[in-house]
Amino acid sequence: MRRHFRNASIIDASGAAPFRGTVTVEGERIAAVTAAPVETAAAPGDEVIDCTGLTLLPGLTEAHCHISFNNLTSIYNAVEQQPEDHALAALANAQLLLKRGWTSLFSAASAKPRLDVAVRDAINKGLFEGPRIRAAGQEITPTGNLGDLDTNYMEIPRTLRFSVACDGADNFMKAARLAARDGVDTIKVNVSGDRDWGHMHADDTVTVITERELEAVMQVADARKLIVATHCSSSAGVKMCVRQGVQVIFHAPHADAEARDMLESVKDKVFVVPAAGFPIAMFRRHDEFRLGWSAEKLASLETEIGIFTDCMRDLHKRGVRVLPGGDYGAFITSPQGENARDLEIFVELFGFTPMEVIVAATRHGADLMQLGGQTGQIQAGFLADLVILDGDPLADIRIFQDPDKIVGVLKGGVFAKREASLSRASGPMRKTA
Ligand SMILES: [Zn+2]
Repeated sequence: MRRHFRNASIIDASGAAPFRGTVTVEGERIAAVTAAPVETAAAPGDEVIDCTGLTLLPGLTEAHCHISFNNLTSIYNAVEQQPEDHALAALANAQLLLKRGWTSLFSAASAKPRLDVAVRDAINKGLFEGPRIRAAGQEITPTGNLGDLDTNYMEIPRTLRFSVACDGADNFMKAARLAARDGVDTIKVNVSGDRDWGHMHADDTVTVITERELEAVMQVADARKLIVATHCSSSAGVKMCVRQGVQVIFHAPHADAEARDMLESVKDKVFVVPAAGFPIAMFRRHDEFRLGWSAEKLASLETEIGIFTDCMRDLHKRGVRVLPGGDYGAFITSPQGENARDLEIFVELFGFTPMEVIVAATRHGADLMQLGGQTGQIQAGFLADLVILDGDPLADIRIFQDPDKIVGVLKGGVFAKREASLSRASGPMRKTA
């Protein structure tokens, strides 16, 4: 049985303007794409879905996703949650994101070693509905850096932490090999801390990992064809990442002119994901969540937002692939499911047109997932990962934030969400399920 999505406004993510036409889905793939007035003939038993007034585009990729972060108020929430409960909550988050149009999730770390892996595998085996997932393990971090929660008096068991603290190349190599043994797709390394974060502080120059430590992780990853993704705020850290061939750099706010030149020189290989939703939500929603933060802290956050806005605008102009995805779930101010706020941020602050951010979240997102040429565009032969919107995202990118406007989501040709309005098929070929 084929499904014909007729008379949709099609955004194919090639970057071309939308066109009216029909997308035909057969099995898990797009069988045909035709521009009106041409229509693929519907055979008996086919389903024809009238998409007049609707926009059809490829499914989105969340490029900095933590399905195991459950809208934390403290990072210790993630430690306290027991693994059985934690795995189920992570699965629920993955399913929520799928229904919001995120058909692919690129993980930026798992709160315990195998949460991402278990959810990915259960979905791939068909045990549960869910999005495509590139799984990560815990963050691998130098002692005392972002993610190291231990003190002299309290050591948290290794498997309950969202990070593994390491020192020296051998130690980093061991942690990377353990992650590989667990079945991850992506090895996450914390190359620097963050601005204004006490002993995990990072500015233009501070990088807390050594080049040999990062190189050791790269060796493990390269030998197994795994991706390395880094938490990296400092300029020196960005340069080290480019030198070492890191494929995905998260944050990168302080990249100076030389670091940006280096990123531009590898723009066909590297992805930058600012994870902007996280600090922006903290800044804009602190009152709503009664956080009681000091004026000094808020001023610092505002400064940080200005710094990464400048950097991302520049990287985008230089043609570096900057992708949306914003640490949703890592703090209560940016809960899971509100991920599409990032799309608005890219338009509002980073100089993207709505079409450019859609291409970033779809075609470039598929490249990030290592599924380029397989999904992320509306083309015959591609996987039918589709989103159907009741409205025009080019007129208002915020449409993705309204679940009621997301009337259909398909992953691999199977509906993950289907509003009643999508059943308004007409004509003699209508078939009800
Ligand atoms: Zn993150």
